[in-house]
Amino acid sequence: MKSNLIVGAGLSGAVLASLIADKLNEEVLVIDRKEHIAGNIYDYKDKETNITIHKYGPHIFHTNNKKVWDYLSKYTKWNFFFLKPNVIIEGNCVTLPFNLTTLYEVFSNKMASDLEEKLISTYGYGAKVPILKLRENPELEFIAQYIYENVFKNYTSKQWGLEPDKIDPSVTARVPIYISFDNRYFQDKYQGIPLFGYTKMVENILKHKNIKVKLNTDFKEITQKFDRVIYCGAIDEYFDYKFGQLPYRSLNFDIQTINQEYYQKTVVVNYPNNYDFTRICEHKYFLNEKSSKTVISVEYPQSFELGKNERYYPIANDENLALYKKYKDESQKIDGLYFLGRLGDYKYYNMDLAVERVFEFFDKELK
Ligand code: FAD
Ligand code: UDP
Repeated sequence: MKSNLIVGAGLSGAVLASLIADKLNEEVLVIDRKEHIAGNIYDYKDKETNITIHKYGPHIFHTNNKKVWDYLSKYTKWNFFFLKPNVIIEGNCVTLPFNLTTLYEVFSNKMASDLEEKLISTYGYGAKVPILKLRENPELEFIAQYIYENVFKNYTSKQWGLEPDKIDPSVTARVPIYISFDNRYFQDKYQGIPLFGYTKMVENILKHKNIKVKLNTDFKEITQKFDRVIYCGAIDEYFDYKFGQLPYRSLNFDIQTINQEYYQKTVVVNYPNNYDFTRICEHKYFLNEKSSKTVISVEYPQSFELGKNERYYPIANDENLALYKKYKDESQKIDGLYFLGRLGDYKYYNMDLAVERVFEFFDKELK
């Protein structure tokens, strides 16, 4: 029987711990330097309002992967939930992603209907077109430029410190222009919010006789030797930044309690063109919680600075991926050492992809 250390009690670490504990019947120690489990998906009940707060930003689970959905459904019931965010365009709160509904919200009926016809005849009803692709079509220059200026350009500059064409195209392609009247942000088959919170779901995943969890513990404090170390923290930190630091974007969440029943019409409202923040989330919508007060979080993007804030988003570009590869190659020289998760793999994983990645890792490396 092998001994296992998992660094990080976030979703990746918890899912892997459960697989090792359950399927291999081996013991696992899971450590986290935070004072809580669940990593970035941590949520908690606010004492004053009893509203569930997503401490590290709005988290909506969505996937087409039945295996991932069924796995997580063993550990939580769901509040079936479709994210329908809004965006402020020219001072008006309208539908996001920019779709056919949005056309009618921002333009006159005649203009919207002409544009609708053009978009449908070019791409077909139901198509999803990344903004950078739309901009390549000279016939659609007006609408492409309008959406670029009003939705993407400044939001992306705030979020990444770079304009959309300077970051990996897959980033803005996460929110394509949708040639449809379907106002949901995601079209995945399975979507929801854990009914009793993400933290409870992770707690249930970790509840196993073979799993021990130790919080407030940094990997640096561990002196005991393990047959396997699976590290879900930052790969550059593990190697003491010997090739240099991997860049990340960070966020500051300004969480405020407001003395009114609702603050905004929907759970998330994006502000591309005004202010220094990118979006405001109103947390009571996730689980339809009732209170005479409400809690919002206002998101201010910032660059990641060691010791000052948290790593949230890896910045994928050729230079950074080449640096990541140096660390990855280095890690492969060490027997029994593996990296996983958003920080270990330096990948912009959604929750479902993080779980999928753990499943694949387990099947390939440990089974
Ligand atoms: P993390 O949650 O980052 O866990 C890593 C853990 O390792 C942390 O708890 C950390 O404290 C610990 N750790 C690191 N280094 C050490 C060390 N040296 N010693 C001890 N512990 C250590 N996904 C979706 O599917 N839907 C969404 O709506 C969504 N919204 C998001 C919004 C924001 C603002 C962000 C940042 C992410 C969002 N995500 C969303 C992605 C989601 O958060 C990730 O997929 C998920 O958290 C990945 O989990 P992880 O375990 O890989 O990483
Ligand atoms: N984006 C934008 N304007 C918006 C929403 C998104 O420019 O109103 C771009 C921006 O570059 C952002 C990316 O699309 O980083 C992905 O958006 P998503 O909502 O998926 O971001 P996340 O929830 O992961 O922060």
